[in-house]
Amino acid sequence: MTIAPQRPYTASLVDQFELGLNAPICLTWELTYACNLSCVHCLSASGRRDPRELTTEQCEAVIDELQRMKVFYVNIGGGEPTVRPDFWHLLDYAVAHQVGVKFSTNGLRITRERARQLAGNDYVDIQISLDGATAEVNDRVRGPGSFDMAMKALGNLAAEGFRNAKISVVMTRENVDQLDEFQKIADDHGATLRITRLRPSGRGADVWDELHPTHDQQRQLYDWLLAKGERVLTGDSFFHLSAFGESLPGLNLCGAGRVVCLIDPIGDVYACPFAIHDEFLAGNVIRDGGFESVWQNSELFAELRSPQSGGACASCQFFDSCRGGCMAAKFFTGLPMDGPDPECVVGNSAAALAGERTAPASSQDHSHRTKPVPVTLRLAPPVKDCAVNPLADFDPRA
Ligand code: SF4
Ligand code: SF4
Repeated sequence: MTIAPQRPYTASLVDQFELGLNAPICLTWELTYACNLSCVHCLSASGRRDPRELTTEQCEAVIDELQRMKVFYVNIGGGEPTVRPDFWHLLDYAVAHQVGVKFSTNGLRITRERARQLAGNDYVDIQISLDGATAEVNDRVRGPGSFDMAMKALGNLAAEGFRNAKISVVMTRENVDQLDEFQKIADDHGATLRITRLRPSGRGADVWDELHPTHDQQRQLYDWLLAKGERVLTGDSFFHLSAFGESLPGLNLCGAGRVVCLIDPIGDVYACPFAIHDEFLAGNVIRDGGFESVWQNSELFAELRSPQSGGACASCQFFDSCRGGCMAAKFFTGLPMDGPDPECVVGNSAAALAGERTAPASSQDHSHRTKPVPVTLRLAPPVKDCAVNPLADFDPRA
């Protein structure tokens, strides 16, 4: 069994984070793998509902536990979480139990009426996913009609006085040039722009080579963040770009299993939302005595919280700010875990990327059972019920 390291009394905040906390700061909970869309880069390879999905009562028990652990808010995602028939109940249940909710949605269920209700709740925040500032760019990645759906939801929220919704953008090769346009959409809707990094997880692994920003685009993004990013949220996901020079603000650290983790729709707990793979499975909230028990006793998490050597990055002059980058990005591109990030901006992963490597097969896939569509082509119209209706194979009695 791995013994958790002693916590030095005088440790700095970052050192405290490295050793892990009693409860996660950033807990993501994917309530369902069901989704009305089939985004080509979906980090959780969502589409079809998992029949083992936690029941309403089991979800309430998780919320009760989060309240006891003093987890003040949870990021809820999916899949498209609002397709769960009990989603609005669970949201109200969480808020009533002092657990604030930030939920991510593609906009499907954000009607005017729902926007009005949400605008009256101070403990709920909403992230609308948008991966292009135009329908052309967005819909190539997220599917036909998804731009209009997201913009309608944003419009409904703004019209009903929901303040400061978030527009959540995954940065790709196709949309880096649109950063100013994204900011304008946010400003026009009284919203805040949030940009995050494309990771090669889930279906993202299939399109990463084609979609991840080029080296020049990474520089462009870094310069834009320094010049105009003061009001932009980044989920601290671009710390590997700090090796361009000045450190970007935020936590320059991989928080997996230390301050970050994921609960998936069947209650499995993973080290990070971008690491849904058996290698990073810490336990299950039903089988292993609840979430707190997994968070505090998992051997995987103890290992992630133990001091890490910098490996091949240790001698790099940028190691203090870059820390070798993202664990999930390395894992899913088949690079050594103690080596440089696949997007290392000083080029130290180029040789490993060009050499022989085996990217791990995904350990689960909930994609709609339609033929995969290359990202460079227009997405085909849905051909099966389950492609348009996420609940098509959902038996409420199951
Ligand atoms: S694995 Fe990557 S995405 Fe996950 S916490 Fe670490 S740096 Fe962030
Ligand atoms: S060599 Fe490692 S620490 Fe240095 S910039 Fe590249 S990924 Fe970051």
